[in-house]
Amino acid sequence: MKKQMDIHKLRADLLGWYDREGRMLPWRIRPEDRARGVTADPYKVWLSEIMLQQTTIAHGAPYWMRIVDEFPTVTDLADASRDHILAMWAGLGYYARARNLHKCAQIVRDAYGGRFPESEAGLLQLPGIGPYTAATMAAICFDEPTNIVDGNVERVISRMFRVEAPLPKGKSAIRKYAATLVTDDRPGDYGQALMDLGANVCTPKSPHCGMCPWSWACQANRAGVETDYPRRIKKHTLPIRYGAVFILRCGDKVLLERRPDKGLLGGMTGFPGTEWGEVPEAPLRDAPVKAEWTKEPAPVRHVFTHFKLRLDVYVGEIETTSGIDGIWAESSGVGTYALPTVMRKCLKQI
Ligand code: SF4
Repeated sequence: MKKQMDIHKLRADLLGWYDREGRMLPWRIRPEDRARGVTADPYKVWLSEIMLQQTTIAHGAPYWMRIVDEFPTVTDLADASRDHILAMWAGLGYYARARNLHKCAQIVRDAYGGRFPESEAGLLQLPGIGPYTAATMAAICFDEPTNIVDGNVERVISRMFRVEAPLPKGKSAIRKYAATLVTDDRPGDYGQALMDLGANVCTPKSPHCGMCPWSWACQANRAGVETDYPRRIKKHTLPIRYGAVFILRCGDKVLLERRPDKGLLGGMTGFPGTEWGEVPEAPLRDAPVKAEWTKEPAPVRHVFTHFKLRLDVYVGEIETTSGIDGIWAESSGVGTYALPTVMRKCLKQI
C-alpha cells in the first residue's frame, strides 16, 4: 500500500514539475494547450521522433522545420521523390531512417488512407517505427499508457532504483522498473515529462538533484552515487577503417555517384571512392579514370557508430565527361544533392 502511495506521489510530482518546467518544442502540445482541446499531430510527432534520434534538438529541429514546411502532411511526404527527401536529410546521418521515413509515409498513404494507426501495436507494423517510437506516438497522440524508455529515461530510472545490471543488458530491468510507474493519467505528458527530466535535470555528468521532483525517492541520490548509474560495460575503442575518394572535375562540373541502397549511407550521393578497409591500400587502381590525381595533404576523419574512418581525398581534372558514367553536377550546385556529412567534409577539404 505504501509503495502504491509512493508511486502515486512520484507520478503527481513529475506531472506537476512538467506543467511548470517542461520544454517548449515546436512539435509539442503543452499541457495548457491540451487542456484547451489542442491535440498532437501524429505526423509531426512521428517526424520529430525519427529525425531526432541520435542527434541533439539544436541540430535536428531546423531539419524538422524544413521538412514540415516543405511537406505539411504525411501524404505530401509520401508523394515526394526519395532523392528530394534524402537531400533534405543530408547532414542528419543514419540515412536508413530517411529511406524508411519515405517508405512508411507511402504505406500510411496507401494502406491507411493517410492516417497513422492509433495504437502502439498498429504503429509497430510500420517500417522504421520501433518500440520506442511506437510507445511515444501512442502515448502523446492517442493517450495510450505505454512504457516510453529512451536513453534519458534509462538514466533516470537506473539512478532512481540503482539498477546494477550494466547496459545494454540492463535495459530489460530498467524497462520493468519504468513500467511500474506508467500511468493512464495524462500518459503522453507523463512520458514527455520523464524524457525532459532526463534531458534537463538528471543529466549524465552532473545531475541537478536539487531541482529534481524525484530526489526524495531517488536511491542513487540518497547514497550520493548518482553518476555511477547507469552501469555500463566498458566500451571497446572503435576500430579504424581506411579509404579514398576521388573528386573529379571537368570545367565547372564535378562527378558524383549514387551509393547502392543497401549498406552504410545507402541511397545517398557521394564522390566515387574505394572500399573502406582495415588497412590502407594503394587507392589509385580504383580511381574512376586515369588522370593526374593530387592527394590532399590531410585525410578526412569521420566517426560512425562502429568505426572511425580516415579518407584520403584525391583531386583530378579532365577535359571531357564523355564515356564517364555518374552524375555530373554543377560545382555550385553540389550542396543540393543528398551528400552525407562525410562527403561534405571531403568537399570542404579541397
Ligand atoms: S535525484 Fe538526481 S540522480 Fe536521482 S533522478 Fe533526480 S536528478 Fe537523477
